[in-house]
Amino acid sequence: MKKILILLSVFFIFSCSGKDIQDYKVFYALDTVCRISLYDQGTDEIYKAIEQELLLTENLFNSHITNSEISKINSEAGKNPVIVSPETFNLVQKSIELWKSTEGAFNPALGPVISLWKIGSENPVVPDSDTIAEKLSLCNPDQIIINNENLSIFLNTPGMALDLGGIAKGFCAEQIKNICISEGITKGIIDLGGNIILIGEKKPGYPWTAGIRTPEENTFDAAISFSCKDKTIVTSGIYERFFIKDGVLYHHIFNPETGFPVENRLLSVSVISENSITADALSTAIFVMGLEKGMEYVKKIPGTEAVFITKENEIFTTAGIRENIIFVNPAYKIKDF
Ligand code: AMP
Ligand code: MG
Repeated sequence: MKKILILLSVFFIFSCSGKDIQDYKVFYALDTVCRISLYDQGTDEIYKAIEQELLLTENLFNSHITNSEISKINSEAGKNPVIVSPETFNLVQKSIELWKSTEGAFNPALGPVISLWKIGSENPVVPDSDTIAEKLSLCNPDQIIINNENLSIFLNTPGMALDLGGIAKGFCAEQIKNICISEGITKGIIDLGGNIILIGEKKPGYPWTAGIRTPEENTFDAAISFSCKDKTIVTSGIYERFFIKDGVLYHHIFNPETGFPVENRLLSVSVISENSITADALSTAIFVMGLEKGMEYVKKIPGTEAVFITKENEIFTTAGIRENIIFVNPAYKIKDF
């Protein structure tokens, strides 16, 4: 009975002051399923504006779209600077800052290595070590020349390529949040394939219950849940995009030092903080750092919390999450760091 009530409330569409109100809307964009839930404040107009924003982000940052700004920068590598929109300029600039602050773990210039593996495509490959080493030598963000007078970006060496796949969803989620806030939305969930922003609270005085899913393909059970409000929760996990060859799993988060998928004891890292752009880059970077270094790193960033899930079904969290835990899946054990 409870299930039926929940379903009814989710699919309830009604009319209010002449405007169609929709609890949520699902879009396919940024290579993922995006679900925006604005409950009784969700008008057609706002959902349309959000759809436009998703399209815009795709057209700026998707390196698989030949006309995107990132593709233009990449195709002019070693030839010409490319004048870009303030959005692209700022995100590339921010990515370089994050490369420095994560000591190289987040690397926006990994394009040559990432496209070599073709992970997420129909025909992924395990490249040979020499080719990986050769491509890796083209992945130095020091060689990204940005000019803030004319907003141009130049990749200094032919063959260099930007890949903003580890930060673009965070940017888009923030843009959507800004649209919502400027339209007076006080309560909502922006979910761009696991890159989540919670606006406000479930109801006044009641924070949201945020769940982090079990890090397995095609399961949506929570491994852990905790209460929070006005936060972003961004997860990087190896179950999202991968392939298996000769019994070895190759996933989409790369170690910028080796050019191979990161090998450590983690299945996923979630970062919980105020800003989805940094949280997105940090979830990728902290995954690269691994449990020990990643935990030490995140503890030093004010207002930022993290949840680590390991291959041994252990969950490690920072203190701010630990004190707000609501539920832990019995298949997992909370461990102290
Ligand atoms: P995420 O799911 O946010 O962790 O992002 C993973 C995506 O970021 C991959 O699909 C790549 O496009 C890109 N990526 C992979 N490894 C890195 C890395 N070490 N630094 C920056 N971007 C990366
Ligand atoms: Mg990320």
